[in-house]
Amino acid sequence: MGKPFQVLLIEKIDEAGVQILEEVAEIRWSSGTTQEILAQEARDADAIIVRAFGSITATIMDASPRLKLIGKHGVGFDNIDIKAATERGIPVVYTPFANTDAVADHTMGLMIALAKRIAEADRALKHGASWGLRYELIGTDVAGKTLGIIGLGRIGGAVAKRAGGFGMRILAYDPYAPKERAIALGAELVDLDTLLRSSDFVSIHVPLTEETRGLVGRRELSLMKRGAFLINTSRGGIVDEEALLEALSSGHLAGAALDVLEKEPPEPENPLIKMENVIVTPHMAAHTKETLRKMAVTVAEDVVRVLRGERPLYLVNPEAFEGPRIRSFLRSLGKA
Ligand code: NAD
Repeated sequence: MGKPFQVLLIEKIDEAGVQILEEVAEIRWSSGTTQEILAQEARDADAIIVRAFGSITATIMDASPRLKLIGKHGVGFDNIDIKAATERGIPVVYTPFANTDAVADHTMGLMIALAKRIAEADRALKHGASWGLRYELIGTDVAGKTLGIIGLGRIGGAVAKRAGGFGMRILAYDPYAPKERAIALGAELVDLDTLLRSSDFVSIHVPLTEETRGLVGRRELSLMKRGAFLINTSRGGIVDEEALLEALSSGHLAGAALDVLEKEPPEPENPLIKMENVIVTPHMAAHTKETLRKMAVTVAEDVVRVLRGERPLYLVNPEAFEGPRIRSFLRSLGKA
């Protein structure tokens, strides 16, 4: 017998998540690279699951009359129009706790790689550099240095805990974080300018919103200490890439590590990727075997909860779950 629901998956997810979805739904894989193709594919979907790529806009929602919810495999839901979803009574679920440790680990890896010039050394040796490189590539300690964390949420907090273990002093800028949280994490809350002026390493962990787009621009980069390092594992649009390029080329900043870029995938000629003192990874901070599985299972379980008429655990817009679309769906299941 056919499955009662259809779930459209925009990108591949771990098999454990697929198996959970298959308990109630038929899976469709999107080939969609354009909004038009995606709108076509979403036509019969009861749920759409999206990862980092593909935008779930109002147009896609309106093209899917049966749509009951949208699932985000991950935590940054800036590629879903939450306002449009809420207006249409479409709940959005996500996986807020699944990738915290993986992204915090990646951030620490990038910070140490920058400080100890690990990526540069590896690259040079692979291209024939002599062992004498050890006299040229002189790194910098992290112990005793100041780390400035922008956004002291789940990931920022996990970075603070790790950095404490490395003997760093920790400053944080987050207008929404309670002082007690900062104290518990061993961080001192300061304003953004103070953080930028005082930190040897600055790491960004805010969501991409209207408020944070361009948060670290030319002025902010110029406030950073000469010789400081910038790490961004949050979202590309938060840092002004042109200004960052200038700050790195002029030697004002010693280096940067970026897991995310304004345009992904980037143009091959994006000059930031080519710079010796920049480490770039392809939006893979959360990509460990364990975390990919956790994200897939978490989002799949919540999608199945909704399709069975139950309340999901991780709602971005809880008000949508109370709206007429879900109420009428629950009635159709005999659950309201
Ligand atoms: P979170 O919601 O727990 O933390 C975000 C923090 O940013 C909150 O404490 C919030 O108060 C703070 N904040 C919001 N606006 C701010 C502003 N204007 N100035 C300063 N602080 C502000 O989220 P999280 O789980 O820590 O994830 C943070 C972000 O990391 C996500 O939104 C996502 O974009 C990004 N992320 C990237 C990857 C990756 O693969 N590179 C993976 C996971 C998450």
